[in-house]
Amino acid sequence: MDTATMEELKDRLLSLKKEITARIKKNLEKVNSFQLKGDEGDFSSAVYSRQVIYDLIEKDRRHLKEIEESLYEIEQGTYGKCKRCGKDIEIERMKAKPTAKYCISCKRIVESGK
Ligand SMILES: [Zn+2]
Repeated sequence: MDTATMEELKDRLLSLKKEITARIKKNLEKVNSFQLKGDEGDFSSAVYSRQVIYDLIEKDRRHLKEIEESLYEIEQGTYGKCKRCGKDIEIERMKAKPTAKYCISCKRIVESGK
C-alpha cells in the first residue's frame, strides 16, 4: 500500500473513531436518562428502548475496537495485510471497509468455513 492511500485511510479511521466515540457517549447519556417508572406500559417500553440503545452501543464498541486495531496495525506496519494468507488486501476493498482484515478470497473461506 502506498503512503498516500495509507494516510487517507488513517484519516478516515480517525474521524470514524471520533464519530463513534461521540455517539457512544450520547447513547450512554440517553440510556441513563430513561426513567424506569410510571405504569407498566411505560415501564416495558422504557426497558425496550434501553435495550435497543444498549445494542447500538455494543455494536459501536465492537466497531471502535476494530478501528483501534487497524490504527495499531498502521503503527506496526502490518495494516492492509490479510490475516489469513498474509497478502496485501485489495486497495478497493480497504477503501470500502478500512477495517477489513481479510482479502476477498480469504473472507469467503473464513465466512463459509465456520
Ligand atoms: Zn487472504
